[in-house]
Amino acid sequence: MNTIQDLFSGFMSFLRGMKITGANLGRDKTTVLYPYEKADVAPRYRGLFVLPFNEANGRLNCTGCTLCIQACPTNVITLTKLGAGKHGGIQDFQMDLGRCMFCNLCVEACPFEAIEMTTQFELASTDRNVCVFPLTSLAQGGAAAAEKNYNTISTALAAEAAEKAAKAAAAGESGGHGAAHAPKEGA
Ligand code: SF4
Ligand code: SF4
Repeated sequence: MNTIQDLFSGFMSFLRGMKITGANLGRDKTTVLYPYEKADVAPRYRGLFVLPFNEANGRLNCTGCTLCIQACPTNVITLTKLGAGKHGGIQDFQMDLGRCMFCNLCVEACPFEAIEMTTQFELASTDRNVCVFPLTSLAQGGAAAAEKNYNTISTALAAEAAEKAAKAAAAGESGGHGAAHAPKEGA
């Protein structure tokens, strides 16, 4: 008797399952055959971060202030500064993906909008060394953008140094003339 009841119960359960399957057959599917098909990623998804290239200034916005490094809880970022002052920037900027938890704290800490999250999420690799992204990978525009950034900053720094040197020379010259025309002590 129990066997017949079990069979009946099992059959009813099967019918209930098929009813749900039938009801969903006509609906739009919500799954995709990844990686052959890809679903849309929400715009605020946090994937790999990048350093946007500022076309107007011909350089990256990053000044090398290190605020993002100080904000990062897992020591993901390292950088090499290039120059200082109003033209200061970066020569290199590295991100260790294996340590990043995509918390966005670095982006929030940056006062120059020099770092931003992207929706790029396919970052897996079998090579651990590939997880360290250099500036040429992080700069929007790649190696060409990194090179332009270097050239723009170097040129601005050189011009600034030349201007300072010229001003110092002019000041020295006028100081020299002044000394020549100054009345001699005891004269
Ligand atoms: S997203 Fe978070 S963990 Fe990743 S680099 Fe930025 S601050 Fe560090
Ligand atoms: S990304 Fe922003 S916070 Fe980080 S060093 Fe560059 S300017 Fe400073």
